Formats: sequence, C-alpha cells, structure tokens
Amino acid sequence: MVGDLFWNIKYNLDFWRKNVHISDNVLHAAFEVGACKVLSCLSICIFPDKTTYPTAETMSHSGQPHSSNFGYSHAKRMIDVQNRAYFQQPGCTFTAVIPTNVFRPHDNFNIEDGHVLPGLIHKVRLAKSSGSALMVWGTGKPRRQFIYSLDLAQLFIWVPWEYSKVEPVILSVGEEDEVSIREAAEAVVEAMDFHGEATFDTTKSDGQFKKTASNSKLRTYLPDFRFTSFKQAVKETCAWFTDN
Ligand code: GDP
Repeated sequence: MVGDLFWNIKYNLDFWRKNVHISDNVLHAAFEVGACKVLSCLSICIFPDKTTYPTAETMSHSGQPHSSNFGYSHAKRMIDVQNRAYFQQPGCTFTAVIPTNVFRPHDNFNIEDGHVLPGLIHKVRLAKSSGSALMVWGTGKPRRQFIYSLDLAQLFIWVPWEYSKVEPVILSVGEEDEVSIREAAEAVVEAMDFHGEATFDTTKSDGQFKKTASNSKLRTYLPDFRFTSFKQAVKETCAWFTDN
C-alpha cells in the first residue's frame, strides 16, 4: 500500500497493517517454494527524521522515522529485519532496495493520493485549462532526490543478478541532484508550458524537510551508471500525461 505524504498522515494504521501482511506473506511464500532470491522495495522515508546527512544504508534503524508516515516506515523497516532473519535461520539471501522519490509516465496522477510530481503535473494541467493559479502545497522549501522510474527499473534488474548481499542498497541520484519542491514545481511549469500564477499553501504540511541519501554504495558497484537528467525525465512524464 503506497500513497503520498497526506495519505500517509491519514492512514498510518492501514499502511502498517497492509504492508506488514503483504511482506510477511510474500517472504514466507518465497521461502516455502525455495525461491533463491527476493528483491523487496523499501523507501527513503524509513530513515530517521533526526539524523545526519547524507543517510546511508547502515542508518535505517537508528532513530524514529518522521511522524507523518511512521506506519509505512516501520512496516518497510521490518522487511530488512525479516530478510536478516531469513538469512540467519534458513539461510535465504532475500534482499531489498531503498529508492528515493520515484516518478514516471503511467504514474498515479490522482491529486488526492499521488506523489508530489504527478500531483503537481495534474494540478498544472487543471490550472491551465481553468485559468486558475497553481497551488503548490507547503512552503516549497523541502528538498528531495527524485529518481526516474526508467532508471530505477534498470537498477532493479541489476540487483538480483549482480548484488548478492542481504543488506539493502540505496538507489538514488547523487546528493548534488537534490532539488527543492519549488524547483520541482518550476520544472513542471516549464515542461507543461504554463504561464499562470503559482502560489504556496503553507497551511499544508511540508513533511520531512529533507531525506538526502548517499548513493556511494551503489556507485562502488556501478560507477558509470548514467541517470536521466531531472528536467528530461519531467519533460517525458509531462508529455505522457498530456497525451494520455
Ligand atoms: P510524497 O507526497 O509522497 O511525494 O512525499 P514527500 O514526503 O516527498 O512530500 C512531498 C512534498 O511536496 C511535501 O513537502 C509537500 O508539501 C509538497 N507538495 C507540494 N505540492 C504537492 C502535491 O500536489 N502533492 C503532494 N503529495 N505533495 C506536494
């Protein structure tokens, strides 16, 4: 069960229960049929709210996650606990990856529960057609590392073939590619060719201020992997949304 910041704030119990049930069922079924590998997807929000930056794989259990999504974060952390237990007891090498904020064509573009980028793309489209202002939620100051799903898909395929450890690996662009929500909104505005006004609804939550993660573990394995530039990925996603 996934959703955006605001959906998490409302449904921490559901996020906890559904995800714990899903992962326990999947991992145990994989164990029972003798699967040699399981790759689970964690999330950048598992890291502690109060922490030093950049966060690294070793820090995933070292403090409370942000209060907005504690249900989802703890459920995802438990996959790592369970992977280690499956290794210690029956010897399975199940593993996990930790992606940062993902976006894509075919994304969930619902404003209510879609993540920030597809939400903004949809809102720009509506503002364009109605002639109203674009409303960006929060202050626009929080910072995020966005990863394009087509890049993430290549990395997902690399992991089961080439990465044989149980410890998770962060899949992220570099720290230098982190952008503010304001900059992300500007990229969408440019790609959608929107010339109207943009305002910030500061009554809405900002969520965690930043979640800056280190991709140096990934880089030790794949030093030459080339990420699609943020602007290009936003452009392709906006074009897909407009066409579909
Ligand atoms: P996400 O909601 O899952 O993308 O989660 P994040 O934790 O990355 O938070 C998104 C950030 O973008 C927060 O600071 C929000 O206040 C801000 N934001 C601005 N506009 C939107 C929007 O339309 N939808 C969402 N989900 N977040 C928005």
